[in-house]
Amino acid sequence: MTVPTSTAAGLDPAQIRADFPILAEQVHERPLVYLDNAATSQKPRAVIDALHTYYETYNANIHRGLHALSERATAEYEAARSHVASFINAAHPHEVIFTRGTTEAINLVARGWGDENVSEGDEILLTEMEHHSNLVPWQMLARRRGAQLRYIPMDDEGRIDLEAYARMFGPRTRLVAVTHMSNVLGTITPAAQIVRIAHAHNVPVLLDAAQSIPHLPVDVQALDADFMAFSGHKMLGPTGIGVLYGRESLLDAMEPLFGGGSMIRVVELHQSSWTGLPDRLEGGTPNIAGAIGLGAAVNYLQTVGMPSLTDHEHELTVYALDLLSDIDGIRLFGPPDAHERGGVISFYVGDVHPHDVGTLLDADGIAVRAGHHCAQPLMRKLGVPATVRASLYLYNTHAEVDCLAEGVARAKAFFA
Ligand code: PLP
Repeated sequence: MTVPTSTAAGLDPAQIRADFPILAEQVHERPLVYLDNAATSQKPRAVIDALHTYYETYNANIHRGLHALSERATAEYEAARSHVASFINAAHPHEVIFTRGTTEAINLVARGWGDENVSEGDEILLTEMEHHSNLVPWQMLARRRGAQLRYIPMDDEGRIDLEAYARMFGPRTRLVAVTHMSNVLGTITPAAQIVRIAHAHNVPVLLDAAQSIPHLPVDVQALDADFMAFSGHKMLGPTGIGVLYGRESLLDAMEPLFGGGSMIRVVELHQSSWTGLPDRLEGGTPNIAGAIGLGAAVNYLQTVGMPSLTDHEHELTVYALDLLSDIDGIRLFGPPDAHERGGVISFYVGDVHPHDVGTLLDADGIAVRAGHHCAQPLMRKLGVPATVRASLYLYNTHAEVDCLAEGVARAKAFFA
């Protein structure tokens, strides 16, 4: 197969790679081949510099101080919120609530919205391919409130049966919570149709966008989603920062999860009142540096251009599926057609345990993930204890995919 040096869309991985200092590192005396992006992405210098600049030149707490540093920190923190809002085309910056990540964002909805709106006998619709972060909070809510979880039929490649889904709605359906892109199968779910069907029954939808927002252009208004959750660290930003996007009317009606500083209007000895959005849902000193770093990450992604990034990853995904499928005895999970999926590629080789494949790849400097990927129900559905997962991002190259395929073939031969 001919290997292009840059993609038709014009994204030049060589130029992009120069922005990521860690990609010049050696691992086990081999050049690092980083293919664990679904777990966390690497960070460009622009993000690292934004963190340094905050700590070195204007570190201060926000929203409180009347001094210059605090005013600058507040302005940069709120500018980051506006950048994120424009990145996902939210109608208002205050529809972006900073959290620690996807997990916290979903728990915020399960507590703040769920406890108010879900009662005994009510139903929440999920899929069997959810990450534990979009499963366990709903199990906890169901237990607290006596509600039921129901699972939308899907095939083993993660394609949702939309007709069966549409028939699941009844008077007790309260919420649909589904992934926008599977972190195991790579499947991109038909989010706009899922939302349209739910809204026809006046049921809100939460999209777990942890894997989609880093890789696809996402417009929350076009999707008409009610809630979306995502993590900064999977989209070039720092760890410990993420986002709950929510429609203003829903966020406004939500009970805060964290009582404390910054979220109050008036505090008396026996009662308090809350301030408005977004502060009402961000009690306590937030991750100021993290939010500023996420703002820088979003700027970086916008400069590269999400459509070119998506095209590049699509081209690499096609290439990787093609090379891997040539390996004798490999079982590739997720849709074979790359148009239905992103660059998350899970597989099982012969009867070699995924941990053994992961360990051998690591010896070659290739970082992949092997395990259940926080999706144990999906592993059970697929009939495997674990998979090897290679996941791509904008800085990955065709040569790295070659290394992966060669490494997997070597692992297969080693254990034959
Ligand atoms: N949802 C999906 C689809 C994920 O892939 C992940 C992380 O792997 C999460 C949720 C949880 O994200 P975090 O651990 O950043 O909260």
